[in-house]
Amino acid sequence: MSVVGFDFGNESCIVAVARQRGIDVVLNDESKRETPAIVCFGEKQRFIGTAGAASSMMNPKNSISQIKRLIGRQFSDPELQRDIKSLPFNVTEGPDGYPLIHARYLGEMRTFTPTQVLGMVFSNLKSIAEQNLKAAVVDCCIGIPVYFTELQRRAVLDAATIAGLHPLRLIHETTATALAYGIYKTDLPENDQLNVAFVDIGHASMQVCIAGFKKGQLKILAHSFDRSLGGRDFDEVLFHHFSAKFKEEYKMDVSQNARACLRLRAACEKLKKVLSANPEAPLNIECLMDEKDVRGFIKREEFEQISAPILQRVKAPLEKALADAGLAVGDVHMVEVVGSASRIPSILKILTEFFGKEPRRTMNASECVGRGCALQCAILSPTFKVREFQVNESFPFPISLSWKGSVPDAQNGEAEQEQLVFPKGNPIPSVKAVTFHKTSTFSVDVQYSDVSDLQAPAKISTYMIGPFPTLRSEKPKLKVKVRLNLHGIVSVESATLLEEEEVEVPVSKEPAKEDAKMETDEKPNDTSAPGANETDVNMQDAKGTAEAAGVENGVPQSGDKPVQMETDTKVEAPKKKVKKTNVPVAELVYGAMVSGDLQKAVEKEFEMALQDRVMEETKDKKNAVEAYVYDMRNKLCDKYHDFVTASDKEELMAKLQETEDWLYEDGEDETKGVYIAKLEELKKQGDPIEERYKEYSERGTIIDQLAYCI
Ligand code: ATP
Ligand code: MG
Repeated sequence: MSVVGFDFGNESCIVAVARQRGIDVVLNDESKRETPAIVCFGEKQRFIGTAGAASSMMNPKNSISQIKRLIGRQFSDPELQRDIKSLPFNVTEGPDGYPLIHARYLGEMRTFTPTQVLGMVFSNLKSIAEQNLKAAVVDCCIGIPVYFTELQRRAVLDAATIAGLHPLRLIHETTATALAYGIYKTDLPENDQLNVAFVDIGHASMQVCIAGFKKGQLKILAHSFDRSLGGRDFDEVLFHHFSAKFKEEYKMDVSQNARACLRLRAACEKLKKVLSANPEAPLNIECLMDEKDVRGFIKREEFEQISAPILQRVKAPLEKALADAGLAVGDVHMVEVVGSASRIPSILKILTEFFGKEPRRTMNASECVGRGCALQCAILSPTFKVREFQVNESFPFPISLSWKGSVPDAQNGEAEQEQLVFPKGNPIPSVKAVTFHKTSTFSVDVQYSDVSDLQAPAKISTYMIGPFPTLRSEKPKLKVKVRLNLHGIVSVESATLLEEEEVEVPVSKEPAKEDAKMETDEKPNDTSAPGANETDVNMQDAKGTAEAAGVENGVPQSGDKPVQMETDTKVEAPKKKVKKTNVPVAELVYGAMVSGDLQKAVEKEFEMALQDRVMEETKDKKNAVEAYVYDMRNKLCDKYHDFVTASDKEELMAKLQETEDWLYEDGEDETKGVYIAKLEELKKQGDPIEERYKEYSERGTIIDQLAYCI
């Protein structure tokens, strides 16, 4: 079983594997620790990761990047609309209202969903892990931003399925960082709590989390974020600054040229990095456009001035995290900054001013998320023994159920009912039971009760509950189980009809205990899930009152006594027992891939991966022919000289020359089989010479040895 963590960034990804001696970040094919999140579509194959980044300058329109910004979002999403304006590739609206990416692949224009492209990135990361572990990788943990909506989380899971991965958990990136921070700390207090703020500023977004650490555990006190504040926004400021300058000075409009845009953006990113270490920096690009070279220059002060609108936004998530955690600045004992964009000095200045203390960089800023993911995978994996460390995660959005009441509302027909099920900050995972007084098929929506923090529609999904069996009692209750799973995905899991029945034997079991039993039954799904809890929420929706009873909170740490379900008191009576019947629950799919589509996407990925492999092998075979030509030519003039007749040598030399010419002309773009045949043809003539030489050298060694013995 594999124990692997993946941090898929908007710009670059990290693969970390757990070994008995610890966590290692593994190197990709080019011996790099970071792998670009890019898929470049070519005429014959795809280039993914480092190879994708290498081809992207040559082929910008077909190089897909920033996939993290595109997945699980509707095309109409204003943030997506803003993002696609600066992307070099084409994105349009698909028939389902979700974006479609256009790219020229295998000689024709094709469309791909962002989920499919993320699947390609995952396949590449998976193969990096597999090459390193020399074993198949399936189980893993994947880091996701805390602000990912239900749809985005589902899209990540679908992409993982496309790549043949099985995530044991999607873990919030900042939580992974907090885990990687805390698990190795040997000086965590037994009773007091060490509060640490983690600030991650990456390529596209900023995330903050405040975690409370005690010996053997961490508890997330608050999460906050700005979905659109990251390193790329500073690149964009510089890009606009210099585009305007070049328009004036050189009369060139870079926006008209995709390649020029890409090159200027890349140069601006470099410039930004130089400014992190130097008070000023030059920008020179040769032949940017219209065969003109451009020159520019900027001081750090000016850079800070033009990026003031972005810098001003850094404080808001910090304030929000403190407020949500219920802490004063002084209660935060330490601040850790991670994410590569946090290297910008003015950001550090803002953080220092805000917290009244210098932020620290004890973590490896680009690898901590990946390492945390691998650690979480190790904790969840039965094959690994990890130091006891509990992660008490909290969910950032409040979730409620809403349904049509059975009571006619004078104005609106059926009255809409809503009940909060998981308040903001609810532990992950968690199961709650909601009691309805319904007797026929009905639908219920799972929704965000507050969308102010989200750029998403309130509705998450709809479930049909029913049909109901023939009723045996007058007032049955329907217990609906809602689960917030380890990935932070909410689902209506089951519905059970509870009916009282007269029976001979008294019943000793209390339903409340059965609830608890149900919880333990489910534990294996939530492997070692700390903070898993099950709570009953009573919904009364009967007899014209159509009102929902308050949430009965059974979370132990709240100090409230769990309120027993209404049914408890009634079954106490002897000779009565509660009959339980399962009522079917079906989810109506919204936006996420339906299983048929997903299966098709899995097959397509398989085909494309096969094509890539064939092309890679073809290249290898072609290289083998080329290498043979050079090698044989050298040897014929050197060590094979005495083992070949002059005429054979001449003939073979001519053949080698002919092959070399062929490789650059007609044979430049042949199939794997043709190169194999070509090599065999050459070897037919070359092998006898090689044999003679070998025989002689071996004999020589034997004679040497004999001479030595004598
Ligand atoms: P995200 O977490 O947003 O999904 P990511 O994990 O790919 O993205 P990181 O690798 O943490 O992002 O950060 C990438 C950003 O950091 C880029 O915008 C890059 O230009 C910026 N960056 C890297 N080094 C420096 C530096 N020395 N100074 C300023 N910015 C830097
Ligand atoms: Mg990141």
